[in-house]
Amino acid sequence: MPLSRKTPLRRTAFKRRRGPIKASPKTLEKRIREKMLDDLCREVTFLRDRHTCVRCGRGLLDLNKFGKPTVLHWAHVITRRIRRTRWRLENVMTLCEGCHFGFWHRAKIRMQDWPDQKAMEWFEMKFTDRYAMLRLMQNDRSPLPDATLVRMYLEHERRRLAA
Ligand SMILES: [Zn+2]
Repeated sequence: MPLSRKTPLRRTAFKRRRGPIKASPKTLEKRIREKMLDDLCREVTFLRDRHTCVRCGRGLLDLNKFGKPTVLHWAHVITRRIRRTRWRLENVMTLCEGCHFGFWHRAKIRMQDWPDQKAMEWFEMKFTDRYAMLRLMQNDRSPLPDATLVRMYLEHERRRLAA
């Protein structure tokens, strides 16, 4: 089965939070850990992709089609709601804002969890090995790796890419 939408669309991106954050210390700790991994993984992704959009090739010094500076996004293949693949480098890439919203998810206003089907086919063609790896990971039922191991993996990749 190809990588595909397994869960119905959920529109969470622009939902406003009501009232103060109510979370237990343990939940807050988990969120901070996740934020750290997100930041690290984003950094490694941009480093690997040389701070350019993997689809259109625009970098931070290029102007977008509206003549404005390019904004780069950290984009996921399998939605980041799924923790197993959230910080795997096979699952992430650098996209400019235009490609992220205009091509990858296509719907500009309603941010979808999963990419457009045509965009997924483009990913499979361009990154065949990564796509195959993600398919394997999607069927993986082993326990989730803990945050420390994920951090070590990403730091190792950062050192390797910076060398
Ligand atoms: Zn682009």
